[in-house]
Amino acid sequence: MAQKITLTLTPKQASDSKFYTAAVARQMGIKQSDIALLRIVKRSVDARRGALKVNLTLEAFLDFEPMPEPIHFDYPNVENATPIIIIGAGPAGLFAALRLIELGFKPMIFERGRDVVARGKDIAQIQRGGAIDPDSNYAFGEGGAGTFSDGKLFTRSKKRGDYNRALQRLVYHGATEEILYEAHPHIGSDRLPRIIADMRRQIIECGGEIFFNSRVTGITIKDGRAVGIEVGDKRIGGAAVIVATGHSAHDIYTMLHNSGVLLEAKPFAMGVRIEHPQSLINKIQYHNSDQMEYLPAAAYSLVEQIAGRGVYSFCMCPGGFIVPAMTDESQSVVNGMSPSHRGSPFANSGFVTEIRAEDYAHLTEQFGQLAGLEFQRQFETMARAEANGHQTAPAQRVADFVAGRPSATLPLCSYVPGIVPSRLDKWMPEFIATRLREAIRVFDRRMRGYLTNEAVVVGVESRTSTPVRIPRDKDTLTHPQIAALYPAGEGAGYAGGIISAALDGERIAEAIALNIK
Ligand SMILES: Cc1cc2nc3c(=O)[nH]c(=O)nc-3n(C[C@H](O)[C@H](O)[C@H](O)COP(=O)(O)OP(=O)(O)OC[C@H]3O[C@@H](n4cnc5c(N)ncnc54)[C@H](O)[C@@H]3O)c2cc1C
Repeated sequence: MAQKITLTLTPKQASDSKFYTAAVARQMGIKQSDIALLRIVKRSVDARRGALKVNLTLEAFLDFEPMPEPIHFDYPNVENATPIIIIGAGPAGLFAALRLIELGFKPMIFERGRDVVARGKDIAQIQRGGAIDPDSNYAFGEGGAGTFSDGKLFTRSKKRGDYNRALQRLVYHGATEEILYEAHPHIGSDRLPRIIADMRRQIIECGGEIFFNSRVTGITIKDGRAVGIEVGDKRIGGAAVIVATGHSAHDIYTMLHNSGVLLEAKPFAMGVRIEHPQSLINKIQYHNSDQMEYLPAAAYSLVEQIAGRGVYSFCMCPGGFIVPAMTDESQSVVNGMSPSHRGSPFANSGFVTEIRAEDYAHLTEQFGQLAGLEFQRQFETMARAEANGHQTAPAQRVADFVAGRPSATLPLCSYVPGIVPSRLDKWMPEFIATRLREAIRVFDRRMRGYLTNEAVVVGVESRTSTPVRIPRDKDTLTHPQIAALYPAGEGAGYAGGIISAALDGERIAEAIALNIK
């Protein structure tokens, strides 16, 4: 049987396979040549205090032992099986489709955006300050919102089995095996599109269908049951409808609201993106280590209660870029991504505070359950008015933001369309700006140097989660008013992040298999 060994090493030793192979052989009392396969099953950097350490857990297979089976998923042909409609080809939609195939159903995905390659071109155009296609951008298109992202694969889900299986599914479709053992796995914006394209290939090969440029405009409901969808003037029928449209699909919320479908307001979060030089974050997090070259670009995660509300860093992208994540030209919205090597000289992170119904009570009478969406829209429009057009974003140096003074100049920033000086401290709703400023002071006590004019805040980070939930019954996972309508993923309010959306998609597929005999 394979033996597991955990070594505590310096960063340099952990990067040297000859060194740790010899250490394992010594510990097992065998010759190195007796080891047929040595694979890492867990790697984490311990930078808490004192000298930096890397904890490496390895699994050693000896010559005469059976080797581990390659990762495999069985996808049967489902061409003539019961059709299930999925709206949206994000992680929730794609993972639901693959799980449905495993369970013997035929997925039919309708995606408003373009395939991942064509979408890449639309995104390049946005980066150059060109027009934003409202159906194909950083939020919309094949692969969903996280396709051009850091690809962090984090989840708070307690079900480790499901989590590991989701990671294995990603490996089966082309992700590197590193994601199976890294303590904080990520894929990178350069690798994610190929994985998404492979998932599409698999779905089509099994007899599933994917329709691009197909924005769903209505859901057909008959006798209290979802029986299909509308795409413009076309009607398509299915045994169930999964709504996996993400949190930026305001038209879907409006369509459901106008059709009398029950929606619920929920708390969300908004703020800014904050960007520091990566070298500064490395110095702070790795305590000026002399082994920096053997360590990955450092990350951080900060959270604090300020005046009764959580303020926290969100979706931190080491060695990454800030990107324009708006879905139309009336907004300024930013987010973050990193390539797999995390090699850019910048470290950016969302930096947000909780938003509650009381903050936008003045909008509730007019907008009902969609008041949070309207508040979000107004925040994004304000940011847009502060920018100079195209995709430029309003920005302020961090120490100036905290001190409440203008920035005459701005530091270098990874945001390709460009940033312009703006008084974010003044024009943002005061309850947001005050909390963010206070939180930066607090975080500077934990990470000395965090509050610096070398860093910049960029507006606005407004799409961390959805302000609206599409409710579902906790047992059947269908909408409480409409049978066979399955809200899924982040847009429905049941997930936050790539992996949790993917897991939610799988859960919905399993519920369908139970409910539709
Ligand atoms: C730039 C960026 C970086 C991110 N980085 C990370 C990260 O590193 N790690 C992480 O865990 N999360 C990250 N996220 C968040 C993550 O992408 C989302 O949590 C996740 O994608 C949600 O999955 P989903 O399937 O629920 O929705 P989405 O991914 O939003 O997918 C919804 C899909 O539905 C389609 N759609 C919408 N309306 C319609 C319609 N009317 N008809 C047809 N199709 C429609 C959209 O085009 C889209 O493809 C990032 C997000 C962005 C924007």
